[in-house]
Amino acid sequence: MLLEAIRSTVIETARRARRDRLVHSTFGNFSIRDRDTGYVCITPSGLDYDSLTPSDIVVVDLDGRTVDGNRRPSIETPLHTEVYKRRKDVMAVVHTHSAYATAWACCRKDVPVVLAEVAAAAGGPIKCAPYRPMGSSELAVVTADALGDSAIVLMASHGVLAVGPTMDSAYNNAVIAEEGARIALYANLIGEAVAISEEECVSLVRIARDKYGQDA
Ligand SMILES: [Zn+2]
Repeated sequence: MLLEAIRSTVIETARRARRDRLVHSTFGNFSIRDRDTGYVCITPSGLDYDSLTPSDIVVVDLDGRTVDGNRRPSIETPLHTEVYKRRKDVMAVVHTHSAYATAWACCRKDVPVVLAEVAAAAGGPIKCAPYRPMGSSELAVVTADALGDSAIVLMASHGVLAVGPTMDSAYNNAVIAEEGARIALYANLIGEAVAISEEECVSLVRIARDKYGQDA
């Protein structure tokens, strides 16, 4: 089977996201780009994550054409491929409907940068992309525009997109989006939440890139 190990990782990530309550039911979608072929392994549309086997994960090219697999790929495949086309550094994409981040997205508000992890991942506030219908190529374009060079972006009245150089990194960024949204909500309730300065955001991005975690 083509790219079986990557397809298995996509399944494990989808199940983990449901366990961690970043998605419910069959919502959300997950993909990894293969470094050698450039193909993208993405979750199928509307199948229970518990029932998935590697052959259910669809392998597509960057134009969204199926290379391997019998299932229909996620409705948001254009969103994933649009980001992969624009961002050579991105090797994994996670799309969730996590509650706190989506609540901000339903108000069509950027999440203010009051939490250091958000500053490090987004380089500033988590921007909210304009509303477009789910699954549309317009949604793919406006979301990739709003994402820019960041690792996380909100999708108006819909959810969250997180990206990274590995699936662990993209997943962690999806968690940071949710945690950042939750903390910003409570900080605003307490009142007078302090935004992290642009200069400090730049510094935190650098620290996260150069110093966090273990050397490979
Ligand atoms: Zn969605």
